[in-house]
Amino acid sequence: MKEIQDSVLYRKLPAIGEYLESAEGQALQQAYSRPRVLSACRALLARLRHEVKSGKQTLESLEAAVDGFSRLIEREIEQSAAPSLRKVINATGVILQTNLGRAPLSEAALQRIQEIASGYCNLEFDLESGERSYRDRHVDELILRAIGSQLTLPSAAPLLETRAAAVVNNCAAATFLALNTLAEGREVIVSRGELVEIGGGFRIPEILAKSGAVLREVGTTNRTRLTDYRAAITPQTGLILRVHRSNFRIEGFTERPELTELVELGRECSLPVFEDQGTGCLVRLKNCGIKDECCWLDSVASGATLVACSGDKLLGGPQCGILVGTEDAIDAIRANPLFRAFRVDKLTYAALEATLLAYVAGNSETIPAIAIIGLQAEAIEARAEAIVSALRSSGLDAGVVPVSSVIGGGTAPGASLPSFAVALSVPGLSESSLAAYLRRLDPPVVTRVSEGRVLLDLRTVPAAEDAVLVGLLRHGLAPIQGAGKEDDVGS
Ligand SMILES: *Cc1c(COP(=O)(O)O)cnc(C)c1O
Repeated sequence: MKEIQDSVLYRKLPAIGEYLESAEGQALQQAYSRPRVLSACRALLARLRHEVKSGKQTLESLEAAVDGFSRLIEREIEQSAAPSLRKVINATGVILQTNLGRAPLSEAALQRIQEIASGYCNLEFDLESGERSYRDRHVDELILRAIGSQLTLPSAAPLLETRAAAVVNNCAAATFLALNTLAEGREVIVSRGELVEIGGGFRIPEILAKSGAVLREVGTTNRTRLTDYRAAITPQTGLILRVHRSNFRIEGFTERPELTELVELGRECSLPVFEDQGTGCLVRLKNCGIKDECCWLDSVASGATLVACSGDKLLGGPQCGILVGTEDAIDAIRANPLFRAFRVDKLTYAALEATLLAYVAGNSETIPAIAIIGLQAEAIEARAEAIVSALRSSGLDAGVVPVSSVIGGGTAPGASLPSFAVALSVPGLSESSLAAYLRRLDPPVVTRVSEGRVLLDLRTVPAAEDAVLVGLLRHGLAPIQGAGKEDDVGS
C-alpha cells in the first residue's frame, strides 16, 4: 500500500533535465552557474525522495515543495556555501567541552592571531642574527615565567630554574612523545587505577603500547601503594608514570602515593617520573569553591622529570600540549624525530603567548575560562531573571532554576559550581524537540535537557550576549509558540 502511495509521490518530483531547461531553472543558472544549480537540484531531490521514503512527506507537503522548487534550490545553494564550523551559544553550563571547542580564547589572544596570521612573522627566524631559529623560543621561557608567577610556594622557585618547556599539538601527543622518548623498549610502571580512557579514544594502555614502551601495571583499581611501585622496579624499568584522573573519581577505600613520593622513589632508583597532568591549571580552584585540586603548578613543583598538559583546558589557551621538565628530558624530546611531526603552527604560538602573558601580568581574569569559573552565582541569577522576564513579556513559558555548572573537558571530575539557568518550554513540544529546534537557530543554541526541561545555564553564555539570546529566542520561537504541533519543527 505504502509503495503505491510513494510511487504517486515520487512521480510529482520534477526531472532534473526538464527543470534546468525551464524558465525558472534558466534564471537560477544565470544567477548561480549551471554546476551549482545542478548539484543543489540533485541534493534537494535526494532529500525529498528520502523524506517520501521515510514517510515525512504527504501529497500536500510535497506539492508545496514542488511549487516552491526554485526557492528551495536557492536555499540549498546558500546553505551549501555556508561554513560548517560555526559559532554556537553554549548554554550547557559545561565550561570546557571538547565537543564545543573547549576554551574560548581571550581578546588578547585573538588580536595576536589576527596580527600574526595575517602576514609574515619571525616564527623560526632570529631577528638579531638573521639566522634560523626554533619556534618554541617564543614560549618556552614564558611558560616557566607563567608558572613562576602563580607559585605560592617560594621554595619551588629554584626548581623552576632547572626546568625547560616544549610545545606540541595536544596533550595526547605530549604524552606519547614523553613515553616514546623516555621509555621506548623499556617497562613503564603505572597504577591499575590510572589505566584510564581520557575520551576521544585516548587510552593510556594503547598509547603506551604504540609508544614502544612496555606496560608494567601495579596495585589495584582503588589502592596502589608506594611499595607496589618499588617492588616492580627491575633493570628493565624505564619510567614511572602518573596519570591525572581527569574525568572520573574513585571514592571510598582508596589510596595512592603523592606525586612527590613517586618523584622521591624515582630519584632513589635513578628513574624518570612522568605525569600526564592534563588540565594545565595555573590558578587555585579552591578559591572558586572547587575542592579537587588539579593544579599544574603542583605537578611541576613536585620535581617530576616531565609533566604534560593541554593548552585548551584550564590554562584557557589554544589547543596544544605543553611539556615541562628537566633540561635533559626536554632536549631528548626535541631530538625525537616525532617532535617535528607533532609541531604546532604560528596561530597556536600567537594565542599561547598572549594567554601566558596574561598570567605573567596578573590578568588571568581576562582569560574567558578563568573568568567563567569565577562568575558568582548571584550575578548569573540576576541575568537569568532579566532574560526570563523579557521572554515572558513575549508570551514565552520561561522560569529561573538553580543548576550546577561543571568544568568538564576532563579536568575536575565531580566538581561543580552553583549557577542559574533559564528553563524553557513550549506547550505541546517535547524537551528533546525543543532542544533540537534551538540547535537549528542561527547561531545555534546548545542547551541541557534535564528532568523534562530545557535548561539554558547562563554561566557559559557571555553576559554581553544576553540580549542576542533574548532576541534569538523571541524570534526563533515565535513560529512554534503555542503551535503545539511537533510536525511543524520536525524538518
Ligand atoms: C585531556 C587530557 C588528555 C588529552 O589532552 P588533549 O590535549 O585533548 O590531547 C590527556 N591526559 C589527561 C590526563 C587529560 O586530562
